[in-house]
Amino acid sequence: MYDLIVIGGGPAGLMAAGEAASALQGRGRVLLLEKMEKPARKLRITGKGRCNITNDRPREEFFAKVRQGREFLAPAFEAFDNRAVIGFIERELGVPLVHERGGRVFPASGRAWDAAEALVAWASRAGVEIRCHAPVAALWREGNTIRGVVLQSGERIAARAVVLATGGVSYPATGSTGDGHQMAYEAGHGIVPLRPALVPLEVAGGLKGLALRNVELALIVDGEMVERRFGEMEFPSDRIAGGAIVLQVSRTAVDAIADGRRVEIAVDLKPALSAEKLRKRLAREIAELGDAAPVRTLLQKLLPPPLRPVIAQAAGLSQKAFASSLTEPDRERLVAALKGWRLPVRDYRPFTEAIVTAGGVDLAEVDPQTLASRLVGGLYFAGELLDVDADTGGYNIQAALSTGYLAGKSACGSLRRR
Ligand SMILES: Cc1cc2nc3c(=O)[nH]c(=O)nc-3n(C[C@H](O)[C@H](O)[C@H](O)COP(=O)(O)OP(=O)(O)OC[C@H]3O[C@@H](n4cnc5c(N)ncnc54)[C@H](O)[C@@H]3O)c2cc1C
Repeated sequence: MYDLIVIGGGPAGLMAAGEAASALQGRGRVLLLEKMEKPARKLRITGKGRCNITNDRPREEFFAKVRQGREFLAPAFEAFDNRAVIGFIERELGVPLVHERGGRVFPASGRAWDAAEALVAWASRAGVEIRCHAPVAALWREGNTIRGVVLQSGERIAARAVVLATGGVSYPATGSTGDGHQMAYEAGHGIVPLRPALVPLEVAGGLKGLALRNVELALIVDGEMVERRFGEMEFPSDRIAGGAIVLQVSRTAVDAIADGRRVEIAVDLKPALSAEKLRKRLAREIAELGDAAPVRTLLQKLLPPPLRPVIAQAAGLSQKAFASSLTEPDRERLVAALKGWRLPVRDYRPFTEAIVTAGGVDLAEVDPQTLASRLVGGLYFAGELLDVDADTGGYNIQAALSTGYLAGKSACGSLRRR
């Protein structure tokens, strides 16, 4: 008989188990069950292998980046906020951190692996028994009370409380395949439909390898601008647009596409120049090039190679025409194409390519003060499994650690009260 079983060894589950074991101080047994060969496989590949573990922005700015579940997340964040996480990682895990542009915080070593190993080691030191290759098939319930878990092997393990921390369904090769959603559903919990979030978008082809820095992207739904982001975008393969600003607007784009609405992105390739300044720059470049230079040479001065034919076509210009012969309307169309290059969005990429999962366990049935189920006694939730998601920038791991901390703390608090 365990006092607490945590299902899932991601950041949320490790935090919940370690916190509960620390609070119990050897007076209770905590078991963490992980279905993969080692815990925290996803954490090890986060932040392009560097793990953007949290964001040091002040609370209000932090919460502006939470897309869903803001109010719900607040008590967990109060209990273990970004400052507390930074202190915990540096002092208790012994992992020095660096703070980068946009408040993003990473292990100073540049290795996500270090953060994952340190978290696992901390949970073990706190007294958590970690069992890998142990996929949980179902919650063991008697009426509306938790009795433990049932493994896929059929083995039953008794426990007085269970924290469900199985993650979302994105990058399923890391172990997050939605088992926890199924278990929560079987226990009577509603599941808000799952959608890929922070996911690349499918656009027109021919731009493979193109990377754009310092551009402004507008998301346009049914002809109306709904979101604007400044930063980097890239085309990792043909017909796929990714990069930070695409991922950020994808949260809204996915829902719009699913609703059958017309979605486009418009890229301002020269956001530092107003249309007026860009007109003057064109006039200057054309004058300097002289009468015989073609539009191609003008575009060479303004754009990386893959974009030159695309923008010439968008502006209705032949690259062979003389730049000096461009009429006023020609120049206006070129300015319009440079300030608002339109790309129809055909679709979004699948969960296998999504950084996080939107949707999940319905927050209405979970107490935000304790993360306890309102339906099943002894059941708690933590991490991406919940219907909470945020932008890129360290916010999602912070949400996993905050909810893990609170779920672990309340689960063992309620054990001590029993
Ligand atoms: C490529 C990539 C990069 C990312 N980079 C960042 C970043 O830099 N910063 C950031 O904030 N966020 C990032 N994220 C998101 C972040 O990794 C997740 O939000 C976070 O890991 C969620 O933590 P979790 O503990 O809830 O779930 P997970 O990390 O998904 O962990 C869930 C665990 O549960 C286990 N499990 C599942 N089912 C069972 C079962 N039936 N029995 C036992 N165990 C089970 C899984 O194997 C897994 O180990 C990234 C995600 C991806 C995919």
